[in-house]
Amino acid sequence: MPVALHGTGVSRGIALGPARLLQRGRPDIPQYVLPPHLINEEVDRFISALEAARAQLQAIRQQIPAGTPTDIAAFIDTHLLMLEDATLTTVPIELILREGCNAEWALHMQQEALTRVFDQMDDAYLRTRRDDVEHAILRVQRILLDQTQREAAIAAEPEGGRIIVSDDLSPGELVLLHQHNVAAIVTEHGGPMSHVAILARSLGIPAVVGARHAGQYIRDNEPLVVDGRQGVLLAGLDAAGTAFYRARQQQEKRARAELHRLKDTPAITRDGTAITLFANIELPEDMQAARRVGAAGIGLYRTEFLYMNRSTPPDEEEQYHAYSKVVKALKGLPVTIRTLDLGADKTADGTTPERGATNPALGLRAVRLCLREPELFRPQLRAILRASQHGTVRLLIPMISTVQEIRQVQELIHEAKDDLRRRRQPFAENIAVGGMIEVPAAAICAADFARRLDFLSIGTNDLIQYTLAADRLDETINHLYQPLHPAVLRLIHTTLRAGAAAGIPVTMCGEMAGDPLLTRLLLGLGLTEFSMPPPALLEVKRIVTGSALEPLHRAADSILRQDDMEQSALLLAELNSDD
Ligand code: PEP
Ligand code: MG
Repeated sequence: MPVALHGTGVSRGIALGPARLLQRGRPDIPQYVLPPHLINEEVDRFISALEAARAQLQAIRQQIPAGTPTDIAAFIDTHLLMLEDATLTTVPIELILREGCNAEWALHMQQEALTRVFDQMDDAYLRTRRDDVEHAILRVQRILLDQTQREAAIAAEPEGGRIIVSDDLSPGELVLLHQHNVAAIVTEHGGPMSHVAILARSLGIPAVVGARHAGQYIRDNEPLVVDGRQGVLLAGLDAAGTAFYRARQQQEKRARAELHRLKDTPAITRDGTAITLFANIELPEDMQAARRVGAAGIGLYRTEFLYMNRSTPPDEEEQYHAYSKVVKALKGLPVTIRTLDLGADKTADGTTPERGATNPALGLRAVRLCLREPELFRPQLRAILRASQHGTVRLLIPMISTVQEIRQVQELIHEAKDDLRRRRQPFAENIAVGGMIEVPAAAICAADFARRLDFLSIGTNDLIQYTLAADRLDETINHLYQPLHPAVLRLIHTTLRAGAAAGIPVTMCGEMAGDPLLTRLLLGLGLTEFSMPPPALLEVKRIVTGSALEPLHRAADSILRQDDMEQSALLLAELNSDD
């Protein structure tokens, strides 16, 4: 019988293929042999996991409320003692060194050996201690597995064309999966503006997020269909159902080919205003996709993806080569390189951050992290400056919220330029420096920011989340995450006016810029520079070339005056109705 699971469609496209389940915390213990040069690292990984397990237990022990029976603390102490005993500390290390195996497997072998000893005991009480050993080991295994298992599973992915069904994915994991040519992704959690969703759109991978409990209904390898526009995952389709979706897939392909004819058509409105359509990219290779759709340049290069799935950050040289590759390939077209925006859902090691533990989106993220760790920031600034000699580079600072941050970054850029002069390394002296407007404070103070910067770029993904206090990752409040909220539209308008008054360009590089349903409204609000995932660009161009600005300004004015976004949605539907 067919099963249809619904979520939010976040990246369009139809995919058909076998399922690949990726659930966090799966109990299987991976077994692999390590090359000799990685064995010491494996021992260190095991030691760190042991330490983390002990720290977890100590934290639990400290939180035991007063009045709790002493047995509970004694129980935890027993586990702590086990994690300090040579049978669990020294022996697995000996096994890793002797067998060259991974830490999980070494621990598993030792657990089997201990279980055999306990099983031979006559004393029933002592036999129950076997469970304690198992629990203590499981704690360490979970820590080890969480760090590596999914990555190893992804790295071992045998063939392309699969539909990944996962509880959650990090952007780093999606990058790895993309290298294995996944056909589509479905996650149980997540919202449309999570970086996984954005990345999927950018890479043209059909994606559905927030498909609750999908993992429980799907079996590994069973044939699935994903409709990324409708946000649905289908299993158990009969031949007719499968043929229907194959036909739709072909139809979409034809529609894309049709749009492709617009590649070299200038993006000019019917009344003659030139509109700039840039592409957003995450990896240097993505510039090919940007060029294929005839983008006017790169309006947002999210450099943090260079820092993912690795234990040490890329050095200046590696960054210089990555940025230069893009700049050279764009042959003089502008390339907007955004400085590191790690934090929140983008972590360097590719893991999904702990949810609820802190407030990562409001924390040490983006420019805040860079200013706190200038040693991380300086090589990047030098690399961007050096890449600027090969074309037109704009340097973009994410998440600024104060003029002090602008000043501090400018000071660091100044120092980086001095360093390069001393080293006699060339760079473009007049490189443009811009700031993202993605925090309400920045939008409200856009005029002050505009006086200090060469351009602004509106990051609506965060601007919406921070304005409406609606976590972009949380599927339970997706309904509150509303681009048409009057507060969001007014902040966008304020920013556009501030840019115009200061005579500097304002780009929009958040996902709103690539939503064809919003193109006319944004044109009406006065936006002339859009930056979006490459697969969205030609559809937006089609709307731009078919629109005249004058009536759009009037319609946008009236939408801007609405105090109720449902009313705005009706006016917008009217505005789009003659498309
Ligand atoms: C944004 O917030 O709109 C943006 C473009 O930045 P990111 O999505 O990378 O946070
Ligand atoms: Mg942002």
